[in-house]
Amino acid sequence: MIREEKNIGTVFLVGGGPGDPELITVKGLTTLREADCIVYDRLSSPELLLEARSDCELIYVGKENHNHTMNQEEINRLLVRKAGEHEKIVRFKGGDIYVFGRGGEEALALEKEGIPFEVIPGISSCIAGLAYAGIPITHRGISSGFHVVTAHNQRDELADIDFTAMARGTDTCVFLMGLGKVREIAMRLMEAGMSPETPAAVISKATTSKQRTVTAELVQIADEVERAKLSSPALIVVGNVVTLREKLNCFEKQFVSKKRYLVSKIGKKTSDLAVYLRKQGKIVDEIQVGEIVSFPFSVTKEQIEKVDWLVFTSRNGVKAFFDTFLREGLDVRCLARCQIASIGEQTSKALRTYGIYPDLQPQEFHSDALIEKLKEQVKLEQILWYLKARNADSHLAQELKGSCQVVEIPIYENQAVTSVLPLKERIKEYDGIFFTCASSVEWLFSTVGKDVWQSWNENGICYSIGLKTTECLKGFGASHIVQAEQASYESLARCVSNKVL
Ligand code: SAH
Repeated sequence: MIREEKNIGTVFLVGGGPGDPELITVKGLTTLREADCIVYDRLSSPELLLEARSDCELIYVGKENHNHTMNQEEINRLLVRKAGEHEKIVRFKGGDIYVFGRGGEEALALEKEGIPFEVIPGISSCIAGLAYAGIPITHRGISSGFHVVTAHNQRDELADIDFTAMARGTDTCVFLMGLGKVREIAMRLMEAGMSPETPAAVISKATTSKQRTVTAELVQIADEVERAKLSSPALIVVGNVVTLREKLNCFEKQFVSKKRYLVSKIGKKTSDLAVYLRKQGKIVDEIQVGEIVSFPFSVTKEQIEKVDWLVFTSRNGVKAFFDTFLREGLDVRCLARCQIASIGEQTSKALRTYGIYPDLQPQEFHSDALIEKLKEQVKLEQILWYLKARNADSHLAQELKGSCQVVEIPIYENQAVTSVLPLKERIKEYDGIFFTCASSVEWLFSTVGKDVWQSWNENGICYSIGLKTTECLKGFGASHIVQAEQASYESLARCVSNKVL
């Protein structure tokens, strides 16, 4: 009998690290970027999902404390099913996959069904979270080991923990999932004989910009945590290593008090704007708001040889044009007699990558300046192709109509993408947001909604690349706008310390 061979994919159990998105391993990130399907929980660093391929199937199986979206059995079955549909499936979790992550159960379920799987460990919050709070989990002469335990059991009661063993030695004690049980934990440790003066710390949202740490003697830690209104996820640390924090707390000192910025970008690639800002030492997150889709238009050598001017107003237009050009098998020499106009430095830079140095670029990078310059040079009988975005207005074409033969050619479109960052909740973390086009303003407004926008807008600063974006921001009632002097990323990056309009 011939058995039909069924292609079965491999499931990669990947730990995403404790919160700082840069704390994923190189192997984890590579696998995430290649995945056909990602099955993920509520993550400490959701921005890592931005690394997924645009055609990757993303499935949320969030397990919040009391609100299980999908139970473990269902998740196991889902992984098995997806292995039948895709080649590379990533099961993605925060921290390390096997540290209270139920990764072992999932691996066993896969093994039972004969599904190939691999494990890519992650950096666990139980070690990295302490480190970012300036607490080494062990330290020669202070603590030669550690206990890491979960504070609650399946019935949501305090877990069956050997407090006596903990109280007896000098090992560091770390409790996960225990914020609601700090008082009970402290009491049980003291009842077991631990000194009430033992240093303790609770670290909330460790390794993220919202990290906060409270320290106190064991006897007072619960009161201090209540007073500080810390929120989960949080780690409880008890032991003498906590005292080292006084000298080693570099992360909170350097990072947490700094301002944070959000850069809206089109496409997946790291935006040059974010690169410039990071070079200035700014803390920047990026959010993809759109994707450029090229429209193939048909063009022949004979047609293009009749064109006198090609006008590009963005680097996306340049890319879309040359995509078509090359696909049609055209040789770049058929542009030999054609003059090329570019709106600004970014567009010219894109043209140079195709070996073309534009004949015309205005001093100021905006469309009115480009129109002025073109009017000086074009002749009435000349044919000018304006290679534009589909949703761009016809201002340039209208203005040039009396001066030459203008043909408008929509060659690309900026299509909005759905955000994988829960921006509605996270926008308040940002002191400023950078907008490089009007459509990203519209995107942000429709993604977070009017109320969230208005409350952010009270203090948040909008950084705008130019006039059109500023007008759009004003239309949405933005209160604090800073506009770049030049419509370039360098200029926009420089304007962080400039005055609000
Ligand atoms: N696999 C994860 C732990 C999952 S259990 C790991 O290796 O880190 C979830 C618990 O982990 C939370 O209740 C909290 O105690 C801890 N935790 C995870 N991320 C955290 C963070 N960024 N800050 C503080 N605690 C965190």
